[in-house]
Amino acid sequence: MLSRPPISQRNIISHVHRPTSVVTRFAPSPTGFLHIGGARTALFNALFAKRHGGVFRLRIEDTDRARSSDEAVAAILEGLSWLGVAWDGEPVSQFARAARHREVVDALLSAGAAFRCYLTPAETEALRDEAFKEGRALRSPWRDRAPAEAPSGASHTIRFRAPDSDVVIDDAVQGQVRWASKEFDDLILLRADGAPTYNLAVVVDDHDMGVTHVIRGDDHLVNAARQTQIYQALGWPAPNFAHIPLIHGPDGKKLSKRHGALGVEAYREMGYLASGLRNYLLRLGWSHGDKELFTDEEMAALFDLEGLGKAPARLDFDKMAHVNAWHMRQESAGRLTELVLERLSHRNDLRLDDKAKVWVHAAMDVLKERGSTLADLEDQVYFLLRGRPFELTGKVAKALKGDAPDRLARLRGVLAALEHWDETALGTALQSFAEAEGVGFGKIGQPLRAALTGGAPAPDMSFVLAILGRDEVLARLDDVI
Ligand code: GLU
Repeated sequence: MLSRPPISQRNIISHVHRPTSVVTRFAPSPTGFLHIGGARTALFNALFAKRHGGVFRLRIEDTDRARSSDEAVAAILEGLSWLGVAWDGEPVSQFARAARHREVVDALLSAGAAFRCYLTPAETEALRDEAFKEGRALRSPWRDRAPAEAPSGASHTIRFRAPDSDVVIDDAVQGQVRWASKEFDDLILLRADGAPTYNLAVVVDDHDMGVTHVIRGDDHLVNAARQTQIYQALGWPAPNFAHIPLIHGPDGKKLSKRHGALGVEAYREMGYLASGLRNYLLRLGWSHGDKELFTDEEMAALFDLEGLGKAPARLDFDKMAHVNAWHMRQESAGRLTELVLERLSHRNDLRLDDKAKVWVHAAMDVLKERGSTLADLEDQVYFLLRGRPFELTGKVAKALKGDAPDRLARLRGVLAALEHWDETALGTALQSFAEAEGVGFGKIGQPLRAALTGGAPAPDMSFVLAILGRDEVLARLDDVI
């Protein structure tokens, strides 16, 4: 309809406008936290750009002033930063670009691809009902009326003149999708108050930002059709589309609050590592053969649109834990120590002094094998950090009854005199002590474990002794003898 519209390029963000290289974007509406579906969309777009040496941009779709909030913007930025999905350049505010959107609408008006519509809400509703009965979408009578007929001073919207031809898009995931023209109404581009609407703003922004690939949830598939009509009217090339199926809950139903925590920060609180969640989200709707576990380098090298699935992926918490466990094992003891101690920093029932930190660090390579999340690691380090003397109840208290205190007192003597304080020497010492006492190892191990850990989960006794060091071990024994 319009070959080359006289649209000024002045709002174009020129330093990233490189139509020959890949530009992707994540365009969240700041109405809540960073949902894991959004996090996955962001990740896919970031990986695709990286794979192709392109640019990944962030656009905050804050046009809906009533529903947008600064807190939500902050939560989205924070969520992406934590997840380690980095965007290029400054985030773009869609609302700040409203003047540019109106400028494009003016161009569409002058070219006859849009028109002023003076329908009142009541008239619109009546026409919509009528159209619905006839199995077609609303067409405004104002599309063919002369501007001179306009009621003077009446407010108006600006509508897009829906083209009479079918719309076809070639989607990288959905394949070729076609819509008949009668399915589309004359879309409002500018509301009566001059506010640009979603589909118009997205087209203008994606074009100006040089976006070449739009990867997003398939709830936007029909928008892709509307947006394509607008691109065509403007004579702009449409980007490549890839509409991915939404994430479903473990029960196969669309993901909702019912399925539990949904914001990225909730997964962080549950103790998932950013690398674990990135890997899990990658596999949620994308595959590369049977490969489950990916380093960041592999993700960036392998991600492609061909691997995107057409069937909705289901959240699977067991798999998430499995993937996270693997990533936890890839982390250094130093980093995990930092992360676990940070999670525990508010606890005033724990000793978090330098000595305790040294124990945690020394034990970490063994402890990280004993859980899937940082929350599991919190449980695993607890025996190191609990303040003395422990409160002993139930089974643990029982293990320290009878002849146990006397036996531990004799063991204390052996340990106090031990020449080498290392895991092997300690293992041998414990064995020979059991033999000298003429009892099975359990008779020693149980009360010793109770005395040293207070019943908290802990690895082998000789390892525990080695990590805690002689002074702490003797002190913990003294507490119960
Ligand atoms: N702002 C839209 C949303 O949050 C996304 C728009 C798009 O990706 O084109 O659902």
